[in-house]
Amino acid sequence: MMTGRLWRSPGPMGLAPQEALVPRIIARTMIIVLLVAIILIGFMWYAARKADQLSIDRQQTLIKTVLAQNFRSIPHDQEAVTVWDDAVEELTRRPIDQSWIDENLGAWFHEYYGHDEVFIVDPEDRPIHAMRNGQRDDVANYVLSIGSTGESLIAELRAKMRAAGKLDSSVRSPGAIDLATVHGHPAIISAKPVVWDTEQRPVSVGREYIHISIRYLDGSFVTDLARRYQLEGARFAYGLPRDQGLSAVTLRTRAGERIGYFVWKPFRPGRLMLGRVGPVLALSLLLVLAVVGGLLHRISRGTLQLSAAKTRAQHLADHDPLTGLANRGLFDRQLSEGLAGIGLTGRSLALLYVDLDHFKNVNDHLGHPTGDQLIRALARILVDLAPGDIVARLGGDEFAIIHSSDNSAATAEQLARSIHRTLARPIDLDNGEVLVGASLGVAVAPQDGRDPVELVRKADIALYDAKRAGRRRHSFYADAMGDRIRERNEIETELREAMRTGEGLDIVYQPYFVAKSGRLIGAEALIRWNHPVRGMMLPDQFIPIAEECGLVETLGEWVLEQACIVAARWPAGTISVNLSAVQLRNPSLAERVYAILKRTRLDPGRLELEITETSFVDSSEKCRSNLGWLRDIGVRIALDDFGTGYSSFRHLRGFEVDRIKIDRSFVSTIQAGQAGSPVIQAIVDLARVSGLETTAEGVETDQQRLFLASIGCDVLQGFLLARPLDATAIDARFLEASHQ
Ligand code: C2E
Ligand code: CA
Ligand code: CA
Repeated sequence: MMTGRLWRSPGPMGLAPQEALVPRIIARTMIIVLLVAIILIGFMWYAARKADQLSIDRQQTLIKTVLAQNFRSIPHDQEAVTVWDDAVEELTRRPIDQSWIDENLGAWFHEYYGHDEVFIVDPEDRPIHAMRNGQRDDVANYVLSIGSTGESLIAELRAKMRAAGKLDSSVRSPGAIDLATVHGHPAIISAKPVVWDTEQRPVSVGREYIHISIRYLDGSFVTDLARRYQLEGARFAYGLPRDQGLSAVTLRTRAGERIGYFVWKPFRPGRLMLGRVGPVLALSLLLVLAVVGGLLHRISRGTLQLSAAKTRAQHLADHDPLTGLANRGLFDRQLSEGLAGIGLTGRSLALLYVDLDHFKNVNDHLGHPTGDQLIRALARILVDLAPGDIVARLGGDEFAIIHSSDNSAATAEQLARSIHRTLARPIDLDNGEVLVGASLGVAVAPQDGRDPVELVRKADIALYDAKRAGRRRHSFYADAMGDRIRERNEIETELREAMRTGEGLDIVYQPYFVAKSGRLIGAEALIRWNHPVRGMMLPDQFIPIAEECGLVETLGEWVLEQACIVAARWPAGTISVNLSAVQLRNPSLAERVYAILKRTRLDPGRLELEITETSFVDSSEKCRSNLGWLRDIGVRIALDDFGTGYSSFRHLRGFEVDRIKIDRSFVSTIQAGQAGSPVIQAIVDLARVSGLETTAEGVETDQQRLFLASIGCDVLQGFLLARPLDATAIDARFLEASHQ
């Protein structure tokens, strides 16, 4: 297969526009999906944080409220006993009944309300009773327990008592309360006066017994609080905990002194929700991403496949499947583009038409697969020789090269020469080597034109010229060629007309003779066309045109029939008729010849058909079997112009021919005083050992005649012996000869 270098890439980036679009679409969609996911996650995170914050705030408020409640409930608890006539009486009684005080003012507070310590001081602020953890305690501990805090509370309370005079209705007695550290515990200390509950009793204001109740805020207080409000890990701490996950409420005395912290692990509903919902959300997002990704992948694959298919289809539409080269359609476009470009760049452009010589031979003799191989090999050769140029296959064995350079005429000449040089060597194919030549026609823009149609026409004319000049050549277009073509076309039209009317077409007969005796034994029919304007036209001037335009078969058959009619009138003698290669390629040739022989009643043994070696080699096996068949019925075959075509002696043996006609060009080498051509001698010798007869054409001198006769050439033909004669004259010659 041809490699990628014959491909023209669709774009400078190698990507079709729609292919380039796919990654962009994918990237954008993925970014959108990711953004949405990030926003969603961000929103969730924010909501969770907000919920946590709210919950923490609420718990802090709750704790503060509970503390405030305790600030109210402790004095309230105290009032149950401190505003009581019995209590006043019992405290002022001497000796003091400590067990009554235990039961009603001391231990009872521990049992009933859970207060941790109780002190009672007399009007001189001396402690007269102490209780700790439900047990009566040493009053001396008073100073140790509350010392200065107790004193300031008592002072405050007595001042209040004195100032108040009469009490309001919400509290039955004034009080003083604060926070402090007691025995290493944070605690609420509340002081209440012990007063009469009946108003008619006399009051000595400011000299009341004072009941001081202490409630520790760690221990059972915290565990109660934690249990009731479900505060996880609630505890008291003197220092602020380092753990960021903990929440704290600062406990301060009224004076603002910090005594510690109430610490707990706050309930975070947001975090909880994130913990529960997060994985589900993450999974869902992943799923969405996967689905979107999968979808995009499918879309992109589809698009890429579509675009690849389009590229492939485009390539197929633009390229020749056998060689991978540009086809005619792409070639036309590229030529137009190239020509449009030369105006801008100032470069020139050469269009080379390349046509294999005798490609048909290869196909006919070696088969179509080999023909295809040869075409592929040639494509490769042209691509290698013309790097950077556009090589196209226009069909069959016809190629075109769009060659562009600063001086295209000169570089195209070099390119043409290099193609000839390369093709001078045999081309290696799978089953052997093949030697083919090519003809090239070149037209150069801008001098030969800038229009693609015009340039193609001129390259074609130049190719035609190269073929006519004898193949394996290249021709640059010249205006004279155009004139020749025009003349050729005129001749074609006039020949058609002449064939229709029969006017001017004629046949002359050139006799030939036995070399040794000089006896007339036959004549060759030669066509003539007496043109009303151009004068006498020789076959070389119009037979090739007739061959090209398909007239030669009709013309050839007409000559054959006329010649047979004339020969049939002679008492004896052979009539030789030239056959065109085109006629030989027609598989029905033998039938046609046979039909003419029948019609003209000429003995087949008196007809000799002259074919050229080239047309013989050019025709297929099947067509050559025509000749075998004709020989079977007695028609003889002569190989005309021997030595000018393939001139290979090795072919000779296989040819089904009876005679060799040594070409005039050999005969003319026999000159006066010279020994004669050893080549002719060789041809004659070879013919003799092959059982073939020989005729020498174009004998013009006596010396030639004598030499040819001396080396054993059988028959002589030439102006020396006889010029071509008209029908009447040849009739007379044969009649005369029969009488001798
Ligand atoms: P050819 O078959 O080689 O024919 C011989 C040519 O040499 C004839 O030219 C003839 O006039 C010429 N000739 C004969 N003796 C001499 C001589 O001594 N000296 C010189 N200089 N020329 C001599 P003509 O008639 O012009 O024919 C040219 C070619 O045209 C023939 O070459 C033949 O190939 C072809 N031809 C002629 N008639 C027909 C025809 O009816 N059908 C076909 N297919 N081809 C024809
Ligand atoms: Ca001839
Ligand atoms: Ca000849």
